[in-house]
Amino acid sequence: MTKSVKPILGISKCLEFDNCRYDGKIIGNDFVRKLKSHVDFIPVCPEMGIGLGSPRQPIRLVRIKGKKNLYQPSTDENLTQKMEDFSNKFFEDLEEIDGFILKHSSPTCGVRNVRLYHKIGKQVGFDQTVGMFTELLSKRFPYLVIEDEARLRNSVLKDSFLTRVFTMARLRNSLSSKDETIQFFKDNEMLFMCYDKNSSKKLMDLLSSKPEELEEKDKIIQLVYNLLNRIPNSDSLFGTYQYILSMFYDRLTIPEKDYFNATMSGFSAGNVMPSEISTLLYSCALRFDVKSILSQTIFEPYPKELVQNNSERREYSLLKI
Ligand code: SF4
Repeated sequence: MTKSVKPILGISKCLEFDNCRYDGKIIGNDFVRKLKSHVDFIPVCPEMGIGLGSPRQPIRLVRIKGKKNLYQPSTDENLTQKMEDFSNKFFEDLEEIDGFILKHSSPTCGVRNVRLYHKIGKQVGFDQTVGMFTELLSKRFPYLVIEDEARLRNSVLKDSFLTRVFTMARLRNSLSSKDETIQFFKDNEMLFMCYDKNSSKKLMDLLSSKPEELEEKDKIIQLVYNLLNRIPNSDSLFGTYQYILSMFYDRLTIPEKDYFNATMSGFSAGNVMPSEISTLLYSCALRFDVKSILSQTIFEPYPKELVQNNSERREYSLLKI
Protein backbone atom coordinates (compact mmCIF):
# COMPACT_ATOMS: atom_id res chain seq x y z
CA MET A 1 0.00 0.00 0.00
CA THR A 2 1.03 3.59 -0.53
CA LYS A 3 3.28 5.58 1.76
CA SER A 4 1.20 8.01 3.76
CA VAL A 5 1.97 11.71 3.44
CA LYS A 6 -0.25 14.40 4.93
CA PRO A 7 -1.40 16.95 2.36
CA ILE A 8 -1.15 20.61 3.36
CA LEU A 9 -4.48 22.29 2.64
CA GLY A 10 -5.51 25.91 2.93
CA ILE A 11 -9.12 26.38 4.03
CA SER A 12 -11.62 29.20 4.48
CA LYS A 13 -11.51 29.64 8.23
CA CYS A 14 -15.30 29.89 8.64
CA LEU A 15 -15.51 26.19 7.68
CA GLU A 16 -15.18 24.37 11.00
CA PHE A 17 -12.40 26.61 12.37
CA ASP A 18 -13.73 29.99 13.54
CA ASN A 19 -16.84 32.14 14.03
CA CYS A 20 -15.54 34.61 11.46
CA ARG A 21 -18.47 34.97 9.05
CA TYR A 22 -20.12 38.37 8.45
CA ASP A 23 -22.97 37.20 10.70
CA GLY A 24 -20.59 36.04 13.45
CA LYS A 25 -21.22 32.36 12.74
CA ILE A 26 -19.13 29.31 11.90
CA ILE A 27 -20.16 26.69 9.30
CA GLY A 28 -20.08 23.06 10.40
CA ASN A 29 -18.77 20.64 7.80
CA ASP A 30 -18.58 16.86 8.38
CA PHE A 31 -16.08 16.27 5.60
CA VAL A 32 -13.66 18.91 6.91
CA ARG A 33 -14.02 17.49 10.42
CA LYS A 34 -13.16 14.05 9.11
CA LEU A 35 -10.21 15.38 7.12
CA LYS A 36 -8.62 17.03 10.16
CA SER A 37 -6.72 13.93 11.24
CA HIS A 38 -5.46 13.20 7.70
CA VAL A 39 -4.24 16.60 6.48
CA ASP A 40 -2.50 19.67 7.87
CA PHE A 41 -4.91 22.59 7.51
CA ILE A 42 -3.91 26.23 7.16
CA PRO A 43 -7.12 28.15 7.98
CA VAL A 44 -7.43 31.73 6.73
CA CYS A 45 -10.19 34.35 6.77
CA PRO A 46 -9.10 37.06 4.31
CA GLU A 47 -11.89 39.43 5.39
CA MET A 48 -10.75 39.25 9.03
CA GLY A 49 -7.21 39.53 7.65
CA ILE A 50 -7.94 42.99 6.21
CA GLY A 51 -9.29 44.19 9.54
CA LEU A 52 -13.04 43.61 9.17
CA GLY A 53 -14.46 42.25 12.40
CA SER A 54 -17.06 39.56 12.93
CA PRO A 55 -19.95 40.26 12.78
CA ARG A 56 -19.45 42.90 10.07
CA GLN A 57 -21.40 44.72 7.39
CA PRO A 58 -21.55 42.71 4.12
CA ILE A 59 -19.16 43.38 1.25
CA ARG A 60 -19.63 42.73 -2.46
CA LEU A 61 -17.77 42.66 -5.75
CA VAL A 62 -18.48 45.67 -7.96
CA ARG A 63 -17.16 46.57 -11.40
CA ILE A 64 -15.57 50.02 -11.28
CA LYS A 65 -13.87 51.45 -14.39
CA GLY A 66 -14.03 47.99 -15.97
CA LYS A 67 -12.23 46.27 -13.07
CA LYS A 68 -13.40 43.99 -10.29
CA ASN A 69 -13.38 45.72 -6.89
CA LEU A 70 -14.20 44.60 -3.36
CA TYR A 71 -16.56 47.15 -1.88
CA GLN A 72 -18.46 47.67 1.37
CA PRO A 73 -21.70 49.59 0.65
CA SER A 74 -22.41 50.57 4.29
CA THR A 75 -19.08 52.43 4.63
CA ASP A 76 -18.54 53.28 0.94
CA GLU A 77 -15.06 51.79 1.38
CA ASN A 78 -13.14 50.22 -1.49
CA LEU A 79 -11.28 47.24 0.05
CA THR A 80 -9.55 46.01 -3.12
CA GLN A 81 -6.02 47.17 -2.32
CA LYS A 82 -6.23 45.90 1.26
CA MET A 83 -7.34 42.48 -0.01
CA GLU A 84 -4.56 42.36 -2.61
CA ASP A 85 -1.93 43.30 -0.02
CA PHE A 86 -3.21 40.78 2.53
CA SER A 87 -3.44 37.98 -0.05
CA ASN A 88 0.03 38.58 -1.50
CA LYS A 89 1.57 38.58 1.99
CA PHE A 90 -0.33 35.39 2.89
CA PHE A 91 0.88 33.67 -0.30
CA GLU A 92 4.49 34.72 0.32
CA ASP A 93 4.39 33.19 3.79
CA LEU A 94 3.09 29.84 2.51
CA GLU A 95 6.02 27.48 2.31
CA GLU A 96 4.25 24.41 0.94
CA ILE A 97 0.67 23.81 -0.10
CA ASP A 98 -1.14 21.05 -1.99
CA GLY A 99 -4.72 22.28 -2.19
CA PHE A 100 -7.41 24.63 -0.91
CA ILE A 101 -11.02 24.22 0.26
CA LEU A 102 -12.99 27.45 -0.04
CA LYS A 103 -16.39 28.69 1.11
CA HIS A 104 -18.76 28.76 -1.83
CA SER A 105 -20.39 31.95 -3.19
CA SER A 106 -18.46 34.37 -0.93
CA PRO A 107 -17.26 37.59 -2.67
CA THR A 108 -13.84 36.80 -1.21
CA CYS A 109 -13.52 33.00 -1.15
CA GLY A 110 -16.06 31.78 -3.73
CA VAL A 111 -14.76 29.71 -6.63
CA ARG A 112 -17.74 30.28 -8.95
CA ASN A 113 -21.20 31.87 -9.17
CA VAL A 114 -20.17 34.93 -7.13
CA ARG A 115 -22.08 38.10 -7.99
CA LEU A 116 -20.09 40.87 -9.70
CA TYR A 117 -22.36 43.93 -9.67
CA HIS A 118 -22.21 46.19 -12.73
CA LYS A 119 -21.78 49.34 -10.63
CA ILE A 120 -22.12 50.79 -7.13
CA GLY A 121 -25.73 51.22 -6.06
CA LYS A 122 -28.94 49.41 -5.30
CA GLN A 123 -30.87 47.17 -7.68
CA VAL A 124 -28.10 46.90 -10.28
CA GLY A 125 -27.49 43.91 -12.52
CA PHE A 126 -24.67 41.46 -11.98
CA ASP A 127 -22.55 38.81 -13.72
CA GLN A 128 -21.08 35.65 -12.24
CA THR A 129 -17.43 35.62 -11.22
CA VAL A 130 -14.82 34.23 -8.81
CA GLY A 131 -14.14 35.64 -5.32
CA MET A 132 -11.26 38.10 -5.09
CA PHE A 133 -9.00 36.06 -2.79
CA THR A 134 -9.61 32.90 -4.86
CA GLU A 135 -8.78 34.70 -8.10
CA LEU A 136 -5.48 35.94 -6.64
CA LEU A 137 -4.79 32.47 -5.21
CA SER A 138 -5.29 30.71 -8.55
CA LYS A 139 -3.10 33.28 -10.34
CA ARG A 140 -0.31 32.88 -7.80
CA PHE A 141 -0.57 29.04 -7.68
CA PRO A 142 -1.91 27.93 -11.07
CA TYR A 143 -1.23 24.25 -10.25
CA LEU A 144 -3.02 24.14 -6.92
CA VAL A 145 -5.98 21.77 -6.42
CA ILE A 146 -8.88 24.08 -5.50
CA GLU A 147 -12.47 23.19 -4.63
CA ASP A 148 -15.37 24.68 -2.73
CA GLU A 149 -17.15 22.95 0.13
CA ALA A 150 -20.48 22.80 -1.71
CA ARG A 151 -19.02 20.95 -4.72
CA LEU A 152 -17.27 18.54 -2.34
CA ARG A 153 -20.67 17.12 -1.36
CA ASN A 154 -20.57 15.38 -4.74
CA SER A 155 -18.89 11.97 -4.35
CA VAL A 156 -17.19 12.08 -7.79
CA LEU A 157 -15.69 15.51 -7.13
CA LYS A 158 -14.72 14.52 -3.60
CA ASP A 159 -12.93 11.39 -4.86
CA SER A 160 -11.16 13.49 -7.52
CA PHE A 161 -10.16 16.15 -4.98
CA LEU A 162 -8.81 13.61 -2.48
CA THR A 163 -6.93 11.66 -5.16
CA ARG A 164 -5.33 14.85 -6.47
CA VAL A 165 -4.33 16.41 -3.14
CA PHE A 166 -2.89 13.17 -1.74
CA THR A 167 -1.01 12.52 -5.00
CA MET A 168 0.35 16.08 -5.15
CA ALA A 169 1.43 15.76 -1.51
CA ARG A 170 3.29 12.50 -2.25
CA LEU A 171 4.89 14.19 -5.26
CA ARG A 172 5.98 17.19 -3.14
CA ASN A 173 7.42 14.81 -0.60
CA SER A 174 9.35 12.86 -3.26
CA LEU A 175 10.90 15.86 -5.03
CA SER A 176 13.75 16.19 -2.53
CA SER A 177 15.54 13.20 -4.09
CA LYS A 178 15.80 11.94 -7.66
CA ASP A 179 15.45 8.30 -6.54
CA GLU A 180 12.28 9.11 -4.62
CA THR A 181 10.87 11.00 -7.60
CA ILE A 182 11.51 7.99 -9.84
CA GLN A 183 9.83 5.76 -7.25
CA PHE A 184 6.87 8.17 -7.13
CA PHE A 185 6.34 7.76 -10.87
CA LYS A 186 6.67 3.97 -10.64
CA ASP A 187 4.13 3.77 -7.81
CA ASN A 188 1.66 6.02 -9.64
CA GLU A 189 2.03 4.50 -13.09
CA MET A 190 -1.35 2.75 -13.07
CA LEU A 191 -3.18 5.60 -11.38
CA PHE A 192 -1.87 7.95 -14.07
CA MET A 193 -2.79 5.46 -16.76
CA CYS A 194 -6.42 5.49 -15.71
CA TYR A 195 -6.51 9.29 -15.97
CA ASP A 196 -5.12 9.36 -19.49
CA LYS A 197 -3.14 6.52 -21.01
CA ASN A 198 -1.48 8.60 -23.76
CA SER A 199 -0.49 11.56 -21.57
CA SER A 200 0.72 9.18 -18.90
CA LYS A 201 2.89 7.28 -21.41
CA LYS A 202 4.31 10.54 -22.80
CA LEU A 203 5.16 11.65 -19.26
CA MET A 204 6.89 8.34 -18.42
CA ASP A 205 8.79 8.36 -21.75
CA LEU A 206 9.92 11.93 -21.19
CA LEU A 207 11.23 11.14 -17.73
CA SER A 208 13.10 8.03 -18.87
CA SER A 209 14.59 9.67 -22.00
CA LYS A 210 15.41 12.96 -20.26
CA PRO A 211 16.06 12.17 -16.58
CA GLU A 212 17.39 15.72 -16.15
CA GLU A 213 13.72 16.81 -16.31
CA LEU A 214 13.42 15.34 -12.82
CA GLU A 215 15.49 18.28 -11.59
CA GLU A 216 12.86 20.74 -12.81
CA LYS A 217 10.44 20.52 -9.92
CA ASP A 218 7.98 23.15 -11.14
CA LYS A 219 7.71 21.43 -14.50
CA ILE A 220 7.02 18.06 -12.90
CA ILE A 221 4.34 19.56 -10.64
CA GLN A 222 2.73 21.15 -13.71
CA LEU A 223 2.80 17.88 -15.72
CA VAL A 224 1.28 15.82 -12.91
CA TYR A 225 -1.32 18.49 -12.10
CA ASN A 226 -2.42 18.64 -15.75
CA LEU A 227 -2.57 14.86 -16.02
CA LEU A 228 -4.85 14.57 -12.98
CA ASN A 229 -7.00 17.57 -13.82
CA ARG A 230 -9.80 15.50 -15.35
CA ILE A 231 -12.22 12.76 -14.30
CA PRO A 232 -11.11 9.28 -15.49
CA ASN A 233 -13.67 7.79 -17.86
CA SER A 234 -14.80 4.17 -17.78
CA ASP A 235 -12.83 3.28 -20.96
CA SER A 236 -9.51 4.36 -19.47
CA LEU A 237 -10.35 2.60 -16.19
CA PHE A 238 -11.24 -0.55 -18.12
CA GLY A 239 -7.94 -0.39 -20.06
CA THR A 240 -5.98 0.04 -16.84
CA TYR A 241 -7.74 -2.86 -15.12
CA GLN A 242 -7.07 -5.07 -18.14
CA TYR A 243 -3.41 -4.09 -18.07
CA ILE A 244 -3.16 -5.05 -14.38
CA LEU A 245 -5.07 -8.28 -14.99
CA SER A 246 -2.68 -9.22 -17.82
CA MET A 247 0.17 -9.29 -15.30
CA PHE A 248 -1.16 -12.47 -13.66
CA TYR A 249 -3.97 -13.67 -15.96
CA ASP A 250 -2.04 -16.78 -17.10
CA ARG A 251 -1.72 -17.93 -13.51
CA LEU A 252 -5.47 -17.94 -12.85
CA THR A 253 -7.54 -21.13 -12.94
CA ILE A 254 -10.16 -21.46 -15.67
CA PRO A 255 -13.10 -20.71 -13.28
CA GLU A 256 -11.17 -17.66 -12.01
CA LYS A 257 -10.61 -16.46 -15.57
CA ASP A 258 -14.31 -16.92 -16.32
CA TYR A 259 -15.23 -14.96 -13.19
CA PHE A 260 -12.82 -12.13 -14.08
CA ASN A 261 -14.08 -11.98 -17.67
CA ALA A 262 -17.70 -11.81 -16.49
CA THR A 263 -16.83 -9.11 -13.93
CA MET A 264 -14.99 -7.02 -16.52
CA SER A 265 -17.96 -7.35 -18.90
CA GLY A 266 -20.22 -6.26 -16.05
CA PHE A 267 -18.00 -3.21 -15.52
CA SER A 268 -18.22 -2.33 -19.24
CA ALA A 269 -21.99 -2.61 -19.03
CA GLY A 270 -22.06 -0.34 -15.96
CA ASN A 271 -23.26 -3.07 -13.56
CA VAL A 272 -20.04 -3.48 -11.58
CA MET A 273 -18.41 -0.72 -9.51
CA PRO A 274 -14.70 0.12 -10.07
CA SER A 275 -14.06 -0.64 -6.38
CA GLU A 276 -15.20 -4.28 -6.87
CA ILE A 277 -12.66 -4.86 -9.67
CA SER A 278 -9.98 -3.02 -7.79
CA THR A 279 -10.48 -5.28 -4.75
CA LEU A 280 -10.41 -8.42 -6.91
CA LEU A 281 -7.22 -7.33 -8.68
CA TYR A 282 -5.51 -6.42 -5.44
CA SER A 283 -6.38 -9.74 -3.80
CA CYS A 284 -4.93 -11.63 -6.81
CA ALA A 285 -1.78 -9.49 -6.71
CA LEU A 286 -1.47 -10.43 -3.03
CA ARG A 287 -1.96 -14.11 -3.79
CA PHE A 288 0.68 -14.14 -6.54
CA ASP A 289 2.84 -11.62 -4.68
CA VAL A 290 3.17 -9.28 -7.68
CA LYS A 291 5.12 -6.52 -5.94
CA SER A 292 4.98 -4.11 -8.89
CA ILE A 293 1.18 -4.13 -8.53
CA LEU A 294 0.97 -4.13 -4.75
CA SER A 295 2.86 -0.84 -4.51
CA GLN A 296 0.50 0.96 -6.92
CA THR A 297 -1.40 3.96 -5.54
CA ILE A 298 -4.42 3.19 -7.73
CA PHE A 299 -5.63 0.75 -5.05
CA GLU A 300 -5.64 3.35 -2.30
CA PRO A 301 -4.93 6.87 -3.62
CA TYR A 302 -6.03 8.32 -0.25
CA PRO A 303 -6.85 6.84 3.18
CA LYS A 304 -9.76 4.39 3.10
CA GLU A 305 -11.41 6.09 6.09
CA LEU A 306 -12.14 9.05 3.79
CA VAL A 307 -14.07 6.96 1.26
CA GLN A 308 -17.74 7.87 1.39
CA ASN A 309 -20.23 6.25 -0.93
CA ASN A 310 -23.42 8.01 0.11
CA SER A 311 -22.76 11.61 -0.93
CA GLU A 312 -24.31 13.38 -3.91
CA ARG A 313 -23.22 12.39 -7.42
CA ARG A 314 -24.82 15.14 -9.53
CA GLU A 315 -22.66 17.52 -11.62
CA TYR A 316 -18.98 16.67 -11.90
CA SER A 317 -17.07 18.93 -14.26
CA LEU A 318 -13.73 20.12 -12.87
CA LEU A 319 -13.16 23.77 -12.05
CA LYS A 320 -11.56 26.20 -14.48
CA ILE A 321 -10.88 29.46 -12.65
S1 SF4 B 1 -15.90 32.98 3.25
FE1 SF4 B 1 -13.76 33.55 3.48
S2 SF4 B 1 -13.78 35.69 3.98
FE2 SF4 B 1 -15.85 34.94 4.34
S3 SF4 B 1 -15.88 34.36 6.49
FE3 SF4 B 1 -15.30 32.56 5.36
S4 SF4 B 1 -13.10 32.59 5.36
FE4 SF4 B 1 -13.76 34.61 5.93
